[in-house]
Amino acid sequence: MNLDTDPSLVALRHRLHAAPELSGAEAGTARLLREMLQATDPDQIIEGLGGHGLALVYDSDMSGPGVMFRAELDALPIAERGHVPHASTLPGIAHLCGHDGHMAILAGLARHLGRDRPARGRVILLFQPAEETGAGARAVLADPRFDSLRPDWAFALHNMPGLGLGQIAVAAGPASCASVGLHLRWQGREAHASSPETGLSPAHAVASLMAALAPFSTPGPVTDGFRLATLCHLSMGARAFGIAPASAEAMVTLRAISDAGLERFERDIATLAEHQAGALALQISRHDHFNASINDPHASRIVARAADALGLVKGCFALPMRASEDFGAFSAVTRTALFFIGAGEGHPALHDPEYDFPDALIAPAQALFTRILSEVMAH
Ligand SMILES: [Zn+2]
Ligand SMILES: [Zn+2]
Repeated sequence: MNLDTDPSLVALRHRLHAAPELSGAEAGTARLLREMLQATDPDQIIEGLGGHGLALVYDSDMSGPGVMFRAELDALPIAERGHVPHASTLPGIAHLCGHDGHMAILAGLARHLGRDRPARGRVILLFQPAEETGAGARAVLADPRFDSLRPDWAFALHNMPGLGLGQIAVAAGPASCASVGLHLRWQGREAHASSPETGLSPAHAVASLMAALAPFSTPGPVTDGFRLATLCHLSMGARAFGIAPASAEAMVTLRAISDAGLERFERDIATLAEHQAGALALQISRHDHFNASINDPHASRIVARAADALGLVKGCFALPMRASEDFGAFSAVTRTALFFIGAGEGHPALHDPEYDFPDALIAPAQALFTRILSEVMAH
């Protein structure tokens, strides 16, 4: 197989990188892809799927499996600090997770399907919105137009710094953790700092919760029972010495290896915080909820077999990863495999201001998707 990089896909990647859009606001990105890929003559194009999602369907009109490949449309609210010529032209927004690269890979697959239509079944290429907030996959699934697309198989990849360049990591079972953001708001009553007993300060409740979270703040191995609580934001009272505070807020991200494990963890923390709040009013809201991605054994074997057939090296990378991926929402409805392709051992981490997707991954990743498709269709 020819693994030379297609310069037009690199150019597309750089164009996407220079014009990033945030989760839920990916209209321009979706439009650019649609304009570019309608030349591949898909049998169906669905726009505005679950937000700005774009689905291209290549149908054989013969019975056979429905196979979906997914890439993400969104960038991050982080200022890029790298110095690549195609750097973001928008202040404070950048493609620092490599979704620009994932889109270029899927665009390459679209061109392949334009030339070489599936002999049976159908192929769905999904450019999914709002991955970074955990909302996009669920919004796509909730869109009634997705009902007619429901695939039998779904595959997605994510590039992974720390894993050797171009190496593949795939495993059956958990691939990425479930997570949820808890926003806690305590409300009491202010008092003069000399007579705090006349007010109602959240200080003790906040301190007790922080102490209770401490054992979960250092990550252990991601095995059954894994729990991680990361305090992301904390504020209390006014910046003044004369006032005992009335209110406080904290933002905590919880992680666990499974959806059920996360549910239990969340319930435990909420019960504890309510108990500690005493007479204070406590509001807890949940945000950025990600399902765990669970790889189907059969789908994972197909990925591994395809990687072997292409001579791609399997890398050593601890799975599941602690980070979350909203592809997990598809795990709940179909056979999925989320796998990882190395961005290089010394490469800046995902979401690092100096991160940039390695263009060298476009060709092998596209070849791997193509090979996965033929493995599934050969069943
Ligand atoms: Zn990300
Ligand atoms: Zn990502």
